[in-house]
Amino acid sequence: MAADFLEGLPVELRSLLERRARLANLDPMALLTQILDRQLRDDDRASNVLYVSAPVNALVEGLYREDTTIADILARGDFGLGTFNDLDGEMVVLDGKVYQLRSDGNAHDVAADARTPFACVVPFMPYSSEDIDEPLDYAQLNALFDRLIPSKNMLYAMRLDGRFDYVRTRSVPRQDAYKPLVEVAREQPEFEFHDVEGSMVGFWTPTFMQSVAVPGYHLHFLTADRRHGGHLLECRPRRIRISLQHIPRMELGLPMTLDYLTADLTRDTHKDLQEAEH
Ligand SMILES: [Zn+2]
Repeated sequence: MAADFLEGLPVELRSLLERRARLANLDPMALLTQILDRQLRDDDRASNVLYVSAPVNALVEGLYREDTTIADILARGDFGLGTFNDLDGEMVVLDGKVYQLRSDGNAHDVAADARTPFACVVPFMPYSSEDIDEPLDYAQLNALFDRLIPSKNMLYAMRLDGRFDYVRTRSVPRQDAYKPLVEVAREQPEFEFHDVEGSMVGFWTPTFMQSVAVPGYHLHFLTADRRHGGHLLECRPRRIRISLQHIPRMELGLPMTLDYLTADLTRDTHKDLQEAEH
């Protein structure tokens, strides 16, 4: 098999590989394995970047329209969350597909040219997973996250799959006139699920990044039939798998819209964000 493979390479590439292998005192297949291993790891490292399409501060200040498209988002990750222009529902990005969880509680398909004022995505490559086979309340689940995360100064992508005794979510209603995020959040419809199968998609973000992304654990829920969900407010898992990915870098988009360029983003929005997102 190895010999066949080498035979199949272009002659020049094969002789280059054999020459390098002789110099390294390796057989050509061993050298090839080394090169491939290094290249694939480099690719993983290079793509392990959290993309945040705009600072969350702008969203808190009521900038609900930006030019970032869903296609832009999917080009940077297959996993994540966010919202849509005019605050038209909660976004879940799972396995490379975008779901729009509107305030009717249903998941809608999203066009590639739809736009978002705020989204966070990453190519999902979990480095660990943990199977939890006992019912937990929400406080216990958060304590478990705290134990699974080696350092709170890093970014993490987190995916939960399994069965939940209870899930409570909300979805922001579409805004046609300007209203601050903190006021919108006070009127958001909530949804309850009992004995439901589904996935949670989200991130841990360090507190010191609070003007850029939502600090703490931030998860969005999608049912296994991919038809319902929303921003997670509370849940009680019964049997789940938790997959984690640490993310050492972030890319922050700064929008070019006139509203963004002329907005006053100097206010400390921490309290508003706390109330709106938790
Ligand atoms: Zn959310």
